[in-house]
Amino acid sequence: MSTLPVFQNYIAGHWCATETTTVALTNPNNAKLTGYQASSSKIQAEQALEAASKAFDANDWSCLDPERRAAYLLRIAQLLEQKKEQIAQLDSLQNGVVIQLTRQVASICAAAFRASADILRSHGSVRYMPGNYSDIAIQRLPLGVAAIITPWNAPSGIACHKIASALAAGCCVIFKPSEWAAGSAQLIAEAIAEADLPPGVFQLLHGNAAVGALLVDDNRVACVSFTGGAQGGAAIGRSCGEQIKPVQLELGGNNPLVVLKSAQLDQAAAAIVTGMTTMNAQWCRALGRILVHQEISSALLEKVLSRLTQVVLGNSLDEQSQMGPLVHKAHWQHITQAIESYRQLGAQVLQPVKVADPSLADTGYFLSPTLVLGLAPEQTLEEIFGPVACWHTFDSESEAIALANQTPYGLAAYVFGEEKQAWQVANKIRSGMVKINAVSLFNLNPMAPRPAWGKSGLGDEGALETFSFFQGTRVIGVAG
Ligand code: NAD
Repeated sequence: MSTLPVFQNYIAGHWCATETTTVALTNPNNAKLTGYQASSSKIQAEQALEAASKAFDANDWSCLDPERRAAYLLRIAQLLEQKKEQIAQLDSLQNGVVIQLTRQVASICAAAFRASADILRSHGSVRYMPGNYSDIAIQRLPLGVAAIITPWNAPSGIACHKIASALAAGCCVIFKPSEWAAGSAQLIAEAIAEADLPPGVFQLLHGNAAVGALLVDDNRVACVSFTGGAQGGAAIGRSCGEQIKPVQLELGGNNPLVVLKSAQLDQAAAAIVTGMTTMNAQWCRALGRILVHQEISSALLEKVLSRLTQVVLGNSLDEQSQMGPLVHKAHWQHITQAIESYRQLGAQVLQPVKVADPSLADTGYFLSPTLVLGLAPEQTLEEIFGPVACWHTFDSESEAIALANQTPYGLAAYVFGEEKQAWQVANKIRSGMVKINAVSLFNLNPMAPRPAWGKSGLGDEGALETFSFFQGTRVIGVAG
């Protein structure tokens, strides 16, 4: 699929035209125009808010028997399964992530709806405990209308995880996808529309940050689940704080990878390459800082560079590509400027990978995985959100731990070394997740939480955790 679908909003069970902006969308492989960002007027946002809030008040969804709600979710999963290749193609076309990976992300879509149906069936909405007089009921109830706001880097998987969890929890949903990668959102909304949920239970509303803010600021929205950058996260956090509105913020990271002296260097080198190239390192758990024991630093660097030169950097829609271009021109400029600032600070910058097809090199938004050496650790504290990793060395385990904990983030960390020693180090890293001796896109267990510490976010993500986020608790019992 090399063309974008027509962007439409889905409000109160009807498809309706969006507003079109003049912001161009381009194919990141060759900078050719693919369309324009879609947006929504204030009136359309108002219609979406009204539809969702009416649907929630009608109780047709929130009070629906869990088995029937689960059946709707399973139907959506079936429909998404049929669309997964198209979803993968659209994501690759819009964000530059290679097709072999967007296929894996697109498989998460149906899986997320199936997992939410399972959770809904297995977690009853009420449990009992003894009270002073008789048993008391502890009920879990949907919070109300949920605003779901998602980024461009893994747009389909992130959206389906949140939407499925919110619907399973009994919330009505307004979904605002990223203005940069809304193609797959259109297909996800089509699948949900085909499943024929009661009108108003699910809305798709296109637009940028300003449209997102209309949802967040409105008191008909009971909760917000957001994945994105620090700036948007802080603005949404402020608004929700003022309103005392539950908010889940999944933000960025500057993730450290620690290589102890006891590490197997080939294993560590392979993992570093994975961490710098998977999803073009436009991935919140990609590598930001590589922290290596001084004595093995040169040997490891040699192995990493040798492996990097094997990486096939090419068209994201090409089956052979292992890494594709960055999402759009402004992001490419932002990353290349960040590299330039490191150079100005005196860094040595290594960019060993060339674009496989030289005819794309000058037009597409390609960037070699980039290693930055020679800076002080204090100079590399912020997230770059691209294939750029800063290399630092340490002499002792305690120094390695201090460096791993030095940034304000706490999303993911990786430790390489003899397993017992690696566990000891992992136990001292302040991070939501620490993987030992591997880097991979997927969770250690699909049911494990995906927490965030520090500036990386608020409120754990995860199959069960996100479902629980969309519910509140009520306790009822006879007093006496
Ligand atoms: P972004 O913050 O620019 O945009 C994300 C979404 O939020 C978009 O839909 C955007 O329109 C909307 N938005 C932005 N500001 C808003 C505001 N003030 N009010 C309402 N809506 C607003 O992020 P991005 O550039 O799309 O994504 C990249 C960022 O996402 C990176 O920082 C990355 O680390 C982070 N991310 C985090 C995770 C995670 O699980 N922690 C996963 C993926 C991406």
